Amino acid sequence: MKFNWEYTFSLFLDPNLWKAAGLVVVLSVLAWVISNVAGIGLALMKESRSRLLSTVARGYVWLFRSLPLLVLLVFAYNIPQVFPATSVVLGSSFSSALIALVLSESAYMAEIHRGGLMSVSIEQREAARALGLPYGKVQLHIVVPQAFRIALPALGNEFVSIVKLTSLASVISLQEILLVGQQLYTQNFMVLETLLSVAVFYVMLVTVFDQLRALLERKLDVNRRRPALQSEPECIERRVARGRERRAHSGEKLVHAQGVTKSFHGNQVLKGVDVDVHAGEVVVVIGPSGSGKTTLVRTLNHLEPADGGVIEVNGQLLGHRYNAQGRIEALSDKDISLQRRNVGMVFQRFNLFPHKTVLENVTLAPVQLRRMSGTEAENFGMDLLAKVGMSAHAKKYPHQLSGGQQQRVAIARALAMKPSVMLFDEPTSALDPELVQEVLSVIADLAREGITMVIVTHEMKLARDVADWVVFMEDGAVGQQGPPESLFGANADPRIKRFVQTVSDAPIITETPAVAGLMP
Ligand code: ADP
Ligand code: MG
Repeated sequence: MKFNWEYTFSLFLDPNLWKAAGLVVVLSVLAWVISNVAGIGLALMKESRSRLLSTVARGYVWLFRSLPLLVLLVFAYNIPQVFPATSVVLGSSFSSALIALVLSESAYMAEIHRGGLMSVSIEQREAARALGLPYGKVQLHIVVPQAFRIALPALGNEFVSIVKLTSLASVISLQEILLVGQQLYTQNFMVLETLLSVAVFYVMLVTVFDQLRALLERKLDVNRRRPALQSEPECIERRVARGRERRAHSGEKLVHAQGVTKSFHGNQVLKGVDVDVHAGEVVVVIGPSGSGKTTLVRTLNHLEPADGGVIEVNGQLLGHRYNAQGRIEALSDKDISLQRRNVGMVFQRFNLFPHKTVLENVTLAPVQLRRMSGTEAENFGMDLLAKVGMSAHAKKYPHQLSGGQQQRVAIARALAMKPSVMLFDEPTSALDPELVQEVLSVIADLAREGITMVIVTHEMKLARDVADWVVFMEDGAVGQQGPPESLFGANADPRIKRFVQTVSDAPIITETPAVAGLMP
């Protein structure tokens, strides 16, 4: 028997096969999209703190990954025979196939998405929470888009699987490619000829969609994007250093922390810390590594809930409230997010959102939380970027910036919530030495503007020249606090002198009032 090439080629003009290919495309795309959404939901459930949700998701994934698709297909198709009411949904072989595919694929996709979610760093989530975004918005705007980008190659693979798995639906009489082929060769017995063209149909479909996947991957890969053309030269506005009156450590208290304690696994890291921050004041926190400085600032915006003591921001108890019976009860995630909007946070490692432009990083919170319109937020964001000397870079992505530039954007992002107080955790420690000054200049500018700040730093110049009040932390407690001239003056505590000597080569003693000097 000779292979009939002519017949094989003629099948590429067969309208029934093309119709079947169209059906396979529609079924596959629908199954992929729905399974993706369901998969993200299942992955978030599996990762959630709720035991119930994670158990349900775990059970689902376990069950539907164990069941062969063929079994699910036959099941879905035959259920209406026993439960006629289900025929509304499962009436056709198309809907049965779609439901069976979604049930099975969403279990696989859940695991792929979970891998993606896990690879989005905790810092990204924290940066979003620090902006005051509640859980849902953190996931929607920050975590899921980054996770999706990471998961895309594996998700593309799943699409290919789905296209091929649709052939199983021939058993429930879905007029897909394989079934149409079978119907042809049972009439003319040209089995190989028919199957060859059926195979080519599948290869064509997979190839086309693989190209689309590659296109989407390139589109989502911000690392490939070229920076927009610069119209303005890079400049950081260096304002003439104006002296700034030292603020008295008195007046309206924006932050009041008293007896704050915190332990990690039985290791007490904060042992009853008292700190007050008054309106317009710059409080600089210094102290040896491991003394609890980071933990302290993290408790001030509830990124790290304190174990004991009282923290008030703007006169409001942080993370808690008094209920009708006068007892203290914990606030919901949503209410804590609301409180966090009063406290801006700048991290050591910037933690900008890599999938958003500089401007989008800054406008995210105003658009999402303060319901600013697009143009209003854009103008507002551009003003903030101008303040930190970054307006020329608004359209760039974080990876296209130097560390110092990224940190200046992070400062603008935190300012965008118009917080009552700004927290900085070693904002220059991750920077190359030549980039430190540009960030310090911005901080000094903010101090002159009267922005209330708490700054953890090893930059002794900043502590001496910009601080109104210095807190020296030691072994989880405040070793000493006071105005810089008393902490760094001639009669300074020997422990502080020793500490300052270890972190800087600069002379320890300053007799001059600490206002000028830092700025060029
Ligand atoms: P500093 O910022 O002054 O260097 P930290 O506040 O980072 O100090 O840390 C103080 C101590 O708390 C350190 O001993 C550190 O190991 C511990 N610590 C901080 N965060 C955690 C955590 N999430 N889990 C366990 N231990 C922690
Ligand atoms: Mg630290």
